[in-house]
Amino acid sequence: MRIRPSDRDRFDRMRRVEWMDMESVQLRRCLMVGAGALGNEVLKCLVLSGFRDITVVDMDEIVPSNLSRCLFFREEDVGRAPKAQVLAERASSLDSAVTIRPVVSRIQDAEDWDFDIVLGCLDNISARLHVNSHARYHGAPYVDGATDGLSGKVHTVLRDGPCLQCAMNRSHMKVLERRYTCTGREATLYSRPLAAEITTTSVVAAMEVREALKIASGREDLCVREVMYYDGMSGSIEKVELDVDPGCPNHGDREAIA
Ligand SMILES: [Zn+2]
Repeated sequence: MRIRPSDRDRFDRMRRVEWMDMESVQLRRCLMVGAGALGNEVLKCLVLSGFRDITVVDMDEIVPSNLSRCLFFREEDVGRAPKAQVLAERASSLDSAVTIRPVVSRIQDAEDWDFDIVLGCLDNISARLHVNSHARYHGAPYVDGATDGLSGKVHTVLRDGPCLQCAMNRSHMKVLERRYTCTGREATLYSRPLAAEITTTSVVAAMEVREALKIASGREDLCVREVMYYDGMSGSIEKVELDVDPGCPNHGDREAIA
């Protein structure tokens, strides 16, 4: 079989994207919080996109209800090992150059925050706000994803933009609830098992990793600064603009945030 020179380069097609900087992507240190459905899809996209230094934090074990949405989990994994460990093992097989470190822990107990990009794949608001404030304090952009049935949300928190907590102040919440009567509240309050399926999970995960690729390529100027709401029934994405909330404790003096 004759192989063209361009086909010998694993990332040739990605290098053809004008703004993509593969050398920079390969050097970025990523923290992925959550190893469930979103985590499986996000990690797949991260590794295939060329990220090579990834830490995965999750404390849960695999249960049968995970198997309809998790590419890297198998029936024999139920009760065998923590999600983070299985995910790291399996996703590592996609690229021999990737290092994936599993951390079996609550994110609230994690001490290392020395990362270039943080990706949120969480299902509850308290963990989200914890990651949001710590990523901001340590200067790492945070890409947060959420799903609810066939709806999803992606919010990219950049160093100079509004954070997740900004989106929760009273006036912003009123706007969100008015415009998203079915999912507005759930966009920030995840305390019960929600409807979930793989197609919406895949879309939201891909949207998250695309923003991470822009950041890793040094092109934060290309990031979507609004909160993106995906509606899988209509196939639409609507963007809601937010401002930094002057009362949000996550902005300004680093000492005050700590
Ligand atoms: Zn804020």
